[in-house]
Amino acid sequence: MDKIKMTTPLVEMDGDEMTRVLWKLIKDELLTPFIDLNTEYYDLGLVHRNETNDQVTIDSAEATKKYGVAVKCATITPNAARMTEYNLKEMYKSPNGTIRAMLDGTVFRAPIIVKGIEPYVKTWKKPITIARHAYGDVYKASEMKVSEAGKAELVFTNEAGEETRELIHNFKGAGVLQGMHNLNDSIESFARSCFNFALETKQDLWFATKDTISKKYDHTFKDIFQEIFDAEYKTKFEESGITYFYTLIDDAVARVIRSEGGYIWACKNYDGDVMSDMVATAFGSLSMMTSVLVSPNGYYEYEAAHGTVQRHYYKHLKGEETSTNPIATIFAWTGALRKRGELDNIPELGKFADTLERACIKTIEDGKMTKDLALITTMENPVTLNTQDFISAIRKTLEELL
Ligand code: NAD
Repeated sequence: MDKIKMTTPLVEMDGDEMTRVLWKLIKDELLTPFIDLNTEYYDLGLVHRNETNDQVTIDSAEATKKYGVAVKCATITPNAARMTEYNLKEMYKSPNGTIRAMLDGTVFRAPIIVKGIEPYVKTWKKPITIARHAYGDVYKASEMKVSEAGKAELVFTNEAGEETRELIHNFKGAGVLQGMHNLNDSIESFARSCFNFALETKQDLWFATKDTISKKYDHTFKDIFQEIFDAEYKTKFEESGITYFYTLIDDAVARVIRSEGGYIWACKNYDGDVMSDMVATAFGSLSMMTSVLVSPNGYYEYEAAHGTVQRHYYKHLKGEETSTNPIATIFAWTGALRKRGELDNIPELGKFADTLERACIKTIEDGKMTKDLALITTMENPVTLNTQDFISAIRKTLEELL
């Protein structure tokens, strides 16, 4: 069989720890034997980020703007312990945060569904994709503790020096205060990323806020979504046979639980933070969750939703056997390759991505899986494989399917 040729390079962002180990295995076993892999490689492993003062992260985001599609391995976000472990020059910011800020994107997370790993919610049959607005609100807030009686106000001073004031509370004693913001530009980008992704994946889009209580803040989100929808997307949605649905966040939560799935749920920053973990857990496993950053300018960055699986890596370093689930990282590659195939009009690339995904699902449904899944499967007598053997089992299924 001839290897599939690629015309435009895929931006490849390598990462850290156990996922870095998986990265190489996936390429060697499941990709390069079948594809003439054309990538522009950026090493986002913490060692190299430190060597380049994190310039490599910026370069990789610039390359994504140039070529349009990237695939990223999980990376360490440094904390105090990592400063010592890696002897870092500074506590670099999260690469995901840096890339997201540069691409102005929205992250869409969706579970990979297989028979035998049943969602905790019995009605869920199809994936629920969560889109989290990743700017502002409580994540960029100013906070204050007050310890005595006094008046708290919101004050906005325009460039001419004129003030607008709004009473927050007349404190009689100790309490807490918080001021937060968002930007119309950012909400608009978020809305467009959601509408575009809904059209692309032919799924309904749900959006919910607490606009009845937050009549200015949350209501602005609701209004911006509606205005952009009416002006730019209404006809396209009708043509695609999908709908945009707005409701209150408490109503949305109740409907999600009763639903079959199969839609995108757009969430404000905090709601998305909380709900994506709830939805991921309820679908069974974090190791079966994919993630794609979609920018309103049409750039895509695919990754697994999980981290670097640090505990497994330390075992691996000690020469012990690991059973790390590579599925979400494989799906990051297939997502990116499929998108590259779509943009460059190479249908074989998309077909290969579909087949590799089917091979992953079939291998699990045939009863072969990693330990994290073996622990939660409803299948009787699953075969638990180590990292390497599971990837080999997928390769075998893939070759059969091809
Ligand atoms: P983690 O996702 O690596 O692990 C969380 C838990 O889930 C662990 O118990 C782990 O064993 C399990 N798990 C996750 N993925 C698994 C897989 N593929 N197979 C089997 N089990 C799996 O998150 P963490 O432990 O909080 O963080 C570890 C490192 O990852 C940190 O340095 C953090 O900064 C980084 N991180 C990176 C990203 C990213 O790059 N997108 C996301 C989250 C965390």
